[in-house]
Amino acid sequence: MNNFQYSRATDVADALNQIAADASAKFIAGGTNLVDLMKYDVEHPSRLIDISHLPLAKVEETTGGGLRIGALVPNSDLAWHPLVMERYPLLSSAILAGASGQLRNMASTGGNLLQRTRCFYFYDVATPCNKREPGSGCSAKDGINRINAILGTSDACIATHPSDMCVALAALDAKVHIAGPNGERIIAMADFHRLPGDTPQRDTNLDPKEIITAIELPAQGFNKHYTYLKIRDRLSYAFALVSVAAALKMDNGTIRDARLALGGVAHKPWRNPEAEAALNGQPVTPDTFARAADVVLREAKGFGHNTFKIDLARRVIVRALTQAANGTPQSQSDKTIA
Ligand SMILES: Cc1cc2nc3c(=O)[nH]c(=O)nc-3n(C[C@H](O)[C@H](O)[C@H](O)COP(=O)(O)OP(=O)(O)OC[C@H]3O[C@@H](n4cnc5c(N)ncnc54)[C@H](O)[C@@H]3O)c2cc1C
Ligand code: SF4
Repeated sequence: MNNFQYSRATDVADALNQIAADASAKFIAGGTNLVDLMKYDVEHPSRLIDISHLPLAKVEETTGGGLRIGALVPNSDLAWHPLVMERYPLLSSAILAGASGQLRNMASTGGNLLQRTRCFYFYDVATPCNKREPGSGCSAKDGINRINAILGTSDACIATHPSDMCVALAALDAKVHIAGPNGERIIAMADFHRLPGDTPQRDTNLDPKEIITAIELPAQGFNKHYTYLKIRDRLSYAFALVSVAAALKMDNGTIRDARLALGGVAHKPWRNPEAEAALNGQPVTPDTFARAADVVLREAKGFGHNTFKIDLARRVIVRALTQAANGTPQSQSDKTIA
C-alpha cells in the first residue's frame, strides 16, 4: 500500500474544506471498498479524510411522508430499521441480499452508492483498463467477461455497477442529497450513476469535491407487491449476475404503477421507462411480463462469456414480476429460489 495522510472531519463544512485543499484526497466512510482498492493499488489517495464521525447517521421521516436516510447510516441498520422494513421492504430485501453481515455493519449508505465495479481487469493493475487508466484499452471486451454488462455498454467499457441497494433505490425513485463548494443540490437516483460512454473513469455525476449527505425516499414504498430477486454464482456473499427489483401497485388484478430496475447488467442500475409503461394498465399474466422483459432486453448485447445473461435476465424479470404480483417476495434469509 502507498503512504497516505489521514485526518478526521469534524463537520460537513470541514470535510468540504479538507477535500477542496487536496486534489487527490478521498473521503473514507466504512472503508470496505476504498481500502481494498488501495491494497490492490487501484486507488492511491494522498489523504484519507475520515467522515465516519459526521452526524449523518439518522433515519428521519420527511414532511411529505417519505424518509431521509443519512449518508452514514450503516447498511445493516438501514435494512433492519422498522420504518424501512414496514414501508420499503424492497430496499431492506436488496440490502440483505448483498455482501455479508460483517460488511453490512461497516458499509455506509453513501459509500454503497460509490462502490466501484467488480470487473476483474479493473482490479488487476497488470492489465489495460480504461476505467482505471483512461486510454489504455478494455481487457474485458475480448476477455473473461462473464460478470460484465449487456446493456448501455460502450466501446470503452462494459463494466457493471455492483450494488444491490442501488437497484432498489432506483426502483423506488430515491433522490441523492449532496453538499459541495457551491452549496447543496439533489440528484435523482436515475441520474446519479453514468453510462460509460467515452469517459468510463467517471462512475457518477458526483463532483470529487462534493459529499453525499443523505438519500431521500418518496412516500410510496410498494410494501405489498415487491420483490428483489438476485441470481448469483453462490447463494450468499456473491455479487449479482442479474438482479431485478420489481414493485407494483395493483388494483383488482390490473397493474396501476410498475417499477422495474435491474442490477448486474449495466454500468448503472437499469430502468427502462418504456417497459414500465408497457406494464401499466395491463392484467397480471405471463404474457404481460414477457412483453415487458422483451422491451428491457431489446438492445441487449453479449460479449461471449456473458451472453447467457440476456436469456437469464428475461427469465428473472418474468419471475420477479410474478412474485411481486402474487405478493410472495423472494426471501433473502433462507436463500431459497422460489
Ligand atoms: C467481499 C465483499 C463482498 C461484497 N458484496 C456485495 C454485494 O453482494 N452487494 C453489494 O451491493 N455490495 C457488496 N459489497 C460492497 C459493499 O457494499 C461496499 O463496499 C460498501 O457499501 C461501501 O461502503 P463504505 O462505507 O465501506 O464505502 P468506502 O469504502 O468507505 O467508500 C467507497 C467510496 O465512496 C466514497 N464515499 C464514501 N462515503 C461518501 C460520502 N458520504 N460522500 C462522498 N463520497 C463518499 C469514498 O471516498 C470511496 O471512494 C461487497 C464488498 C466486499 C468487500
Ligand atoms: S470493462 Fe471497464 S472496468 Fe472492465 S476492463 Fe474494460 S474498461 Fe476496465
